[in-house]
This record gives sequence, structure tokens and C-alpha cells, in this order.
Amino acid sequence: MTQAMLEDLVEGLRVPTDLFVGGRWVAAEDGGRFAVVDPATGEEIAHVANGTVEDARRCVDAADAAAAGWAATSPRRRSEILRRAFELMTERGEQIAELMVRENGKALPDARGEVAYAAEFFRWYAEEAVRVSGDLRTAPSGANRIVVLRQPIGISLLITPWNFPAAMATRKIGPALAAGCTVILKPASETPLTALALAEVLADAGVPDGVVNVLPSRRSGAVAQAVLADPRVRKLSFTGSTEVGRTLLQLAADQVVSCSMELGGNAPLVVLEDADLDVAVDGAMVAKMRNGGEACTAANRMYVHRSVATEFTERLARRMADVTTGPGLSGAALGPLVNADAVQKVHELVEDAAARGARVLVGGRPGDGQGFFYPATVLADVPTGARILQEEIFGPVAPVVTFDDDDEAVRLANDTEYGLVAYVFTRDLARGLRLAEALDCGMVGLNRGVVSDPAAPFGGTKQSGIGREGGHEGLLEYTESKYVAVDW
Ligand code: NAP
Repeated sequence: MTQAMLEDLVEGLRVPTDLFVGGRWVAAEDGGRFAVVDPATGEEIAHVANGTVEDARRCVDAADAAAAGWAATSPRRRSEILRRAFELMTERGEQIAELMVRENGKALPDARGEVAYAAEFFRWYAEEAVRVSGDLRTAPSGANRIVVLRQPIGISLLITPWNFPAAMATRKIGPALAAGCTVILKPASETPLTALALAEVLADAGVPDGVVNVLPSRRSGAVAQAVLADPRVRKLSFTGSTEVGRTLLQLAADQVVSCSMELGGNAPLVVLEDADLDVAVDGAMVAKMRNGGEACTAANRMYVHRSVATEFTERLARRMADVTTGPGLSGAALGPLVNADAVQKVHELVEDAAARGARVLVGGRPGDGQGFFYPATVLADVPTGARILQEEIFGPVAPVVTFDDDDEAVRLANDTEYGLVAYVFTRDLARGLRLAEALDCGMVGLNRGVVSDPAAPFGGTKQSGIGREGGHEGLLEYTESKYVAVDW
């Protein structure tokens, strides 16, 4: 895409590049800016205000000034504003999708899918905003009543990753606003433009000044620390790597801030010998290749019963060989990875597996032109000790391992510090449900390669996180229960 087209795109969407604080677009307090790079070309496409610690404090002040008013706004009004945000985001969907391709690299169909998915969080939580209910019980002694109120938890710091720049933001903003909380969103530095476009959507939808503040910053540690040190901030919702999640949990401990953590994954995909292989291969393609493999939910390890392993792997390899790679707006099915480090990491994992005896059936070498490209890759006979089976790949690589019975499949699948999601393919639903119960993770896709749904509780066990996003559960994360003991 030419620079002129980029300007059209940015102007067409009027994508701001400043901080959004208290309903105003402002430069960083020290005037600093940082570059956003197009992963398809390696070229700089925008310069965004680089929030400082002082800007972070201003965001907390703005969120605090708006907090009481927003909490007192009727649920119906909050619902209508969120519904309007859904409509506006849908209307601007094509521009937001193209913007996301430019800063993240993902292929346009993935970006369009993400916009639709992201907007659904506004619609779902518009519907949930009017359904926050408390509880009334009788004390076991019969002496009094127990009244339970659900109140907004308070100012919330939302930190999002670059891989789903729209959906990870709306999955947090939607329930926070529905519950009556004001927020500070700190987007990933690779993809701040989508977050700024969302700030415009929300402002245009009627969100009052200060309810949503957006703080792009390359000083992520310092600004997060400043926000979390402020006792007015009561919630941290983070989506990102387990490593950064651990650091933030420690920071949040000082003020005893409530934490929701959506962290890394290492999803197993299990194909039993009675699986419908058409369904299993389709499911594996989606579970692996959605968002180019740059998803916490991406199938990271494919465990296939020995009796169907050859056929499954050959079919998968044929499908992966057909995946076209190119710039996200070119019509290719697979865009570039987010940056050069990501390409190097993915390739290291492939080389390590190959050095230990894995066979590279398709792909396996980074692109040699401009941009951060890595092709769809299939590895067969991956040995147990390979790093690729333990670490998040975050790229379009499918390692295949064989197993002999269900117990072995469960043991291999659970042999990880992560517990986000698993996929199981079988024609026997009872057997599939037994496996689903035995797998140590927060979500299971049974005969399907996608679990993400705004109406469902998304989240993980073990080092994949704490808490749930989406569904009614996602709303409760932004509320505090208050119990009133009443005599009447
Ligand atoms: P990341 O490096 O952990 O960064 C995530 C966010 O944290 C970014 O906004 C980043 O800002 C910020 N950050 C980095 N260091 C920080 C610090 N010391 N203090 C405060 N904030 C800090 O993760 P990523 O590479 O963007 O995203 C990929 C990871 O996200 C993968 O592990 C993936 O599994 C996970 N993920 C999980 C889910 C889920 O729902 N479980 C969904 C999507 C992604 P800067 O960009 O400015 O450094």
C-alpha cells in the first residue's frame, strides 16, 4: 500500500495519534512520540504520543472525576451507549479492519472477523448491563435477612496485547462500562491505533468524558506501576504473556488490587481414532491458523492417535501447503508475524524440533524479502523433549505427535504449565466429554476449532490466568459484592 493510500485510510477514519484523557486528545506531557510499524514492510506508518508517568496520573484523575457520575448513570442508559458503540463499530468495521492489518499485519479476513467479534462484546454487554442482580437470603438462624448488592468495583486499569488489538480491548471495556466502572486502557505499543479508533467510537457513542481513557505508552512498566500505586484504582485486567502477568500481579499486591489475568496458552489438539477426519482437519486448520497462529488459543501441539496419524498429517500438510502468504491487504490468507523477533522465535522452535529429529513436511524457513513473514509449517514425529511442545509458538507452525490410548493423550495434553484451552475430536460424544473433564484447562473445543464467544466465560487454569472474560462471569469481574445484614 502506498503512503498516499495510508493517509487516505487514516484520514478516512480520522485516526487520532494522541492520548485520550478526560474526553480530550492530548499530546504526551513531554511531547514524546513513538513509531508504529507495518509488519508487511517494516516501514513506519504513524507516530503516537508516548504516555508518561505524569500522563498516567492524569488518566487516573480523569477516571476518578467521572467515576461517581458513571456509577450513578442508569443501567438502561449505560446499555444504550454500549449498543450505540456496537452499531458505530460495525458501521466503521471495514476501516478498522484495514487499520488493524496495517499495524498488526494480520490477513484482512482475520481482521474483519476480529472486528465483528470485538463489536459483539459491546452488544453482549449492552444486553448484560441491565441484568446485574443482587441477592436476598434468610440467615440460617432466621434472625435476619442477608441482602447482597453488586456494585461497580471502581477504576480499572486494562492492559491489552497486540495480537487482537480490538477484541481484547472491547472484551474488557464492555463489561467494565456495563458494571459502572471507569477505565484506563493501555494498549500494546505495536498496535495503539486500533485502541485510539475505539476511543473515538466510544466517544461518538456518548460515553461521558473520563469514563474511558486511552494511554499508549512505550514505558509500559512505569505507567502501569504509577496507576497501580494509586489507591483509587481497584481493578487490573491484563491480557498478555504469563511473564508480564506475574510482574503485574506483584505490583497489584501493594494496593491489594483485584486482578483478572488472561495469560499465555499451549493448547493441545487431540484427534482420537474415531474422529471424523474431515472435521478434525478443518478444526485443526482453524485452531492453528486463525490470526496466523498468533493467538493464545492457537493449537500448539497436535496429538493424533497412531492409527490415523499418517492420514491426518498428510491431509493437514496438503491444506497448510495451500495457505498463501503475503501482505494482509493483498488477498493472502496468511499475513506477516508482528515483528522480526517473532519470526526469529518461531524459527528457533522449528530448528530445535528438527535438530531433535522432527520431520519438516511443509514450510520451515522464514521469508527472505521485506516484512516479517513465516510460512505455514507442519512438523511430524516431534519428540517429547522439543521446546516447541512446551513454549507458546505464536506462529503458523503445527507440530504433530502420536499417542496410543486416551490416558496417554490426557497425560501428554496436561503436561504443561499452561491451561487455557484444549481441542478434542471424536465421533463419540460421551468419550469426548470424559476427556473434556479430564483436561486441565479453562475451555475445551469439542469437534470444533474455535471456542471464543462473547457469551461464554473465556479464561484459563494454571499459569494461563485468573478469572474469566465474556459471558455473565465477565461482568461480575467488575463488580464487588456488598452484603447488608438487615432486620425487618
Ligand atoms: P506482553 O508482552 O505480555 O504485552 C502485553 C501488554 O502488556 C502490552 O500492552 C505491553 O505493553 C504490556 N506490558 C509489557 N511489559 C509490561 C510491564 N512490565 N508492565 C506493564 N505492562 C507491560 O504480551 P504480547 O506479546 O503483547 O501478547 C502476546 C501474549 O498475550 C501471549 O502470551 C498470548 O498468549 C497472550 N494472550 C492471551 C490471551 C488470553 O485471553 N489468555 C489473549 C491474547 C493474548 P508494550 O507493548 O508497550 O510493551
